[in-house]
Amino acid sequence: MTIGKTVALIVSAGRGIRAGGRLPKQYRPVAGRPVLSHTLQSFAEHPGIDAIRTVIHPDDRALYEEAAAGLDLLPPVHGGASRQESVRLGLESLTDIAPDRVLIHDAARPFVPPSAISRVVKALSTHAGALPALAVTDTIKRADAGTVRETVDRSVLWRAQTPQGFQYAPILDAHRKAAGQEMTDDAAVAEAAGLTVVLVDGAEENFKITSADDFQRAEQMIAPSPSNAAAIFKTGMGFDVHRFETGDRVILCGLEIPHTAKLAGHSDADVGLHAVTDAILGALGDGDIGDHFPPSDPQWKGAPSDKFLAFAAERVRGRGGTITHVDVTLICERPKIGPHRDAMRSRLAEIMDLPVGDISVKATTTERLGFTGREEGIAAQAIATIRLPA
Ligand code: MG
Repeated sequence: MTIGKTVALIVSAGRGIRAGGRLPKQYRPVAGRPVLSHTLQSFAEHPGIDAIRTVIHPDDRALYEEAAAGLDLLPPVHGGASRQESVRLGLESLTDIAPDRVLIHDAARPFVPPSAISRVVKALSTHAGALPALAVTDTIKRADAGTVRETVDRSVLWRAQTPQGFQYAPILDAHRKAAGQEMTDDAAVAEAAGLTVVLVDGAEENFKITSADDFQRAEQMIAPSPSNAAAIFKTGMGFDVHRFETGDRVILCGLEIPHTAKLAGHSDADVGLHAVTDAILGALGDGDIGDHFPPSDPQWKGAPSDKFLAFAAERVRGRGGTITHVDVTLICERPKIGPHRDAMRSRLAEIMDLPVGDISVKATTTERLGFTGREEGIAAQAIATIRLPA
C-alpha cells in the first residue's frame, strides 16, 4: 500500500454492549456484516482517504479480521482504557507514516456519506481541524428537578459527529498533552490545545449506533423491511455532442482540462455531465436535460453543469430511489482522457453523492473517422441504473 497524506483512524476499541447482545456493538451484524465492516468500506471507497488504521481491543482480533476481510488496510493497533487513550495510541502508531492529516471516526457510525468525508478533508486544506455537525432543531430547555428554568438559544448549539479531521502533528501534540483526561471527543482535545476547529455540514444518516433501536434503524437503512423490500431497477441512456470552438480548455465530467480548443454551448458545454444527466432522467422517465434547463433560459448561460447532474440525482432520491451505477464513455481523439479518469470518477461521485466504486468513466476514439475523428467536437454516452421502490 502506498501511504498517502490523509489517514482515517477508526476507533473500534470500545466494549459497548449497551445496545444488547454479547458482542461489542461494532462487531454485531447489520445486513449480515459487522457494523465495522460497513464503516471501513465507507472510508476504503473514498478517493480522499489514502490509508486506514483501526484501533481495536486486544480481545477482538478475530472479530476485527472478519470485519476487515478483503479490504486493503494498515495493520490494526491496540487501544487503551478510554476512547481518548485509544485515539492517542492510534495517533502514536502513525508517527512512522507521519501523515499530513488524520480523520478520526467512530466505528459505530457506519453510514457516513462520502460527501461528509469530502467536506472534512476539504476544510483541512485551510483549517487545523474540522468536524461534521448538525443544527439542533428541537427547542432546548434547561430544567431543574423536572421544572423548566429557561429556554436555551439553540442557534449556537450543534450536534458533533465524526469523522473529526485534523492536521496530524498538532492533534498528536494535543492528545499527548491531554493524556489521562476524559474528554468526549477529539475536537474537545483540540479545543483544549487552542486549535481552531471549523464546522462542516454533517448528515442525519451518519448516526452513532448506540441502542437496540439504532440497530433496527440500521437494518432498515441497508436492508429494507419486507414491506418495502420490493424494488424495481430501471436503466436510462444519455447521449450528447458539443462542437469545438476557439479556446484553451474543455470542461469534461466536471473537470477543467487544458486543450487547444473549447467546447461550444449555452452552459459550460460539459458533454460528459450532460450525457450522465440525461441517462438518469431517462431511467426516471422524467424528460431530458433541455426540459428542466431550457437553453432559451438566460439563467443557464455558462452554468456549471454539475448543477444539472446534482438536480437529476436529487430527483432520484426524491422518488425514494438510489443510483446504483453510472457508466460514461467519452468519444474523442483529444484531449487524452486516461490521465483524468480517476479524478473524473471522484468528481462524479462528489456531485451525485455516490461511492466512487459505483461510477465508471471510459474513453474511446473513433479511429479518426467521423466528426469526433476529425476533432470537430466531442461526443459522450452514458448509462445509469437506478433502484426505485416498487
Ligand atoms: Mg449538451
